[in-house]
Amino acid sequence: MKSSTRSPITDHRSPPSSQSLPGRISRSLSELDWIPRPRLLALRRLGIETVENLLTHFPRRHEDRHEFPHFPREESDVPICLCGEVVKTSIRRFGGWKKIFEATLEESSPNALSEPLVCRWFNLHYVQKMIATGQRIVVFGKPRLRGKRICMDHPEFEVIENDEEISIHFRRITPIYPATEGLSQRVLRSMIYRLLNELPDADAGLKTWAPSNLVKGESSEAIRSIHFPDTWDARDAAHQHLVLNEFFAMQMLIVSRRADASIRQGEKHCGAGALLDRFLRSLPFELTAAQSKVIGEIRNDLATTRPMNRLLQGDVGSGKTVIAIAGMLLAAEGGYQAAFMAPTQILAEQHYDVLRRWLEPLSVRLALRTAARQEESGPLPLFERGSAQGSARAVLGSAPVRGAGAVVSTARTSDEPRGEEKSSSAGDAMTGTRDAYVPRSDASTLRDEPQIIVGTHALLYDKVSFSNLGLVVIDEQHKFGVAQRAQLSAREPAPDVLVMTATPIPRTLTMTIYGDLDVSTINEMPRNRGKIVTAVRDESKLGEVLAFLRTQLEAGHQVYVIYPLIDESEKLDAKAAAAEYELWRERLRPFRCDLLHGRLPALEKQEIMERFRRGETKALISTTVLEVGVDVPNATVMLIENAERFGLAQLHQLRGRIGRGEHKSYCILLTSAQAKEASAKLAVLERTRDGFEVAEADWELRGPGDLLGTAQSGLPALKIGNLRTDAHLMRRARAAAVSILERDPRLELPENQRFRRLIVEQQGRIFSNVS
Ligand code: ADP
Ligand code: MG
Repeated sequence: MKSSTRSPITDHRSPPSSQSLPGRISRSLSELDWIPRPRLLALRRLGIETVENLLTHFPRRHEDRHEFPHFPREESDVPICLCGEVVKTSIRRFGGWKKIFEATLEESSPNALSEPLVCRWFNLHYVQKMIATGQRIVVFGKPRLRGKRICMDHPEFEVIENDEEISIHFRRITPIYPATEGLSQRVLRSMIYRLLNELPDADAGLKTWAPSNLVKGESSEAIRSIHFPDTWDARDAAHQHLVLNEFFAMQMLIVSRRADASIRQGEKHCGAGALLDRFLRSLPFELTAAQSKVIGEIRNDLATTRPMNRLLQGDVGSGKTVIAIAGMLLAAEGGYQAAFMAPTQILAEQHYDVLRRWLEPLSVRLALRTAARQEESGPLPLFERGSAQGSARAVLGSAPVRGAGAVVSTARTSDEPRGEEKSSSAGDAMTGTRDAYVPRSDASTLRDEPQIIVGTHALLYDKVSFSNLGLVVIDEQHKFGVAQRAQLSAREPAPDVLVMTATPIPRTLTMTIYGDLDVSTINEMPRNRGKIVTAVRDESKLGEVLAFLRTQLEAGHQVYVIYPLIDESEKLDAKAAAAEYELWRERLRPFRCDLLHGRLPALEKQEIMERFRRGETKALISTTVLEVGVDVPNATVMLIENAERFGLAQLHQLRGRIGRGEHKSYCILLTSAQAKEASAKLAVLERTRDGFEVAEADWELRGPGDLLGTAQSGLPALKIGNLRTDAHLMRRARAAAVSILERDPRLELPENQRFRRLIVEQQGRIFSNVS
């Protein structure tokens, strides 16, 4: 990942600087003479190479291994730690060659009620060699009643010879580490213990970056306590300290990006709004209150010189396109160009189609530019008006059209009036900064440039595309990372940037994932949406489900069947897909079906979609390629097979394909009886249609995973903090970072110099993660 941004705060291109870490913590573990080579190799496999790596290999949890005051007389579900003398050992056989080794322990100072404890190991020959009568041993495990005896099966144990060794693993709150493949917990624990003992205090911790009004104490102390806490309170305090420190570092990076953007000088890109008013009046619907609010926010941003850096989040179908258009019209009226970028060619072409329907009557000059046309050189417009329409039509003729809704019929007739006829009369509505569109035949258009350019993200990388770029709108932000955004805002002069996403994220994540942006949220759907009923059904009910499908088909509606080949990269066995298809054709006979999957050539996919859109096919059997860009209001049923195999967020996106017309729609999630857990998860979808609620539930079930994909978010991976359970700490860390950068946006004060180093270092961590 390379960024060409030059930050006024820190030059983000600086290489990761190990210099900024206190001296010895960045040392390689191989410099320590007491770690044998095989262990170094095992550590390396866990990604642990330096002193710092090992010290920040944080425990996953802790166990209370304080010695229990007396031997138990009953069972316990909580493992306990006991110390006693071995009074008897024995071996029993069972099932032929299998053996049980038993060691009976007695309490050191028994009382009248004391019971002996029987420790048992099954088929562990080495244990038998290690334990002998007369020894004192420490054990840790769950006591269970077996007949009349109190037994502990497979306890962790240590023979008491070396008191120090004991005090590392037992008689304390003991750390349990994550994934120790190739290393036992004991070995890892001992190494960390020794490392902490040998390092001088100044080196033992990471730097305490966070200001003292945010964290208490020193990180060196916290590091010791997180591994080997004296009390549970000390453990909690250490955890909080380290999480705040980590979150603060992250938020400094995020908030500095935002501060960077805000001190950059841009221009005002806002016209008076006459064109926007005309556009809004021409719409066949009223804006929702949320849409109006967001347009207001964007308008304010456009009207100030500070470059806009705004995210618009709104569920599928919430009407983001209208908002994008509103912003672009304001910029165009202000005399600037606007770019509208989509992640794929198909989506770009769909947007272009929608824009032409809505904006040509207003004589706004449009152009389409996708990767396929990248070769064309020369100044924009890259293609002539006539040929643009011709080629766009060739593609769009078979492309699914989305977004135009009920406003304009999606089927286009050849005698539909086009811009040429209308432009002369509509031109007067323009603001005067630009001429109205004039047909290509007029020589004057050679110097005419489009006001709105629709394209794929590739537009970004093209230096000559724009002469006067004022606003960039990016659709589907989740496919568009921080690096690309940085590239954009690095242009001089900086354009205003609006990114849009239909992938809602949990509210508490917004300040992190989108923490460098201003966020607008559409929390309201247009009123005319049909109801969607979502129901989870067991596979055994397929017969009834099929009967229902047929009633819908007979009523003239169309259906989607999503079949469970989740990942298009999963080797698609063409035969399996064909078999699936045959099955469904049989089931739905005589209604016509088509099969859609990712391995089909693009053209064929478009033809299939087009047939479905025209209603020639009644059922579409498809993989999840359907997710993006389909709008067929007459489709009222979506049946998803093996629904438990999909993520909630993905199911929600899929479901967004129905309920687009005024008809009541049905989403049926088929699942097998075995997948019990899954039905709890799927019930979320039965309960709500709100994307944010779904996202929240999905997060709880799966963890942030891909949400914080390093390359996308441009954030360093977290070592100790948990974005969900520690969300309240993130809020505090953010407030601290914001207050520092508000007072000193360029970090110029001497006492703030250390934060520059911190930001550079955070940046370094991202680079090292990605490479
Ligand atoms: P998304 O937010 O998923 O991009 P779109 O912008 O494609 O959604 O809008 C979905 C459909 O809703 C389109 O057909 C659009 O014309 C229509 N639409 C947008 N806003 C409204 C509204 N306020 N009232 C009714 N329909 C609307
Ligand atoms: Mg959209």
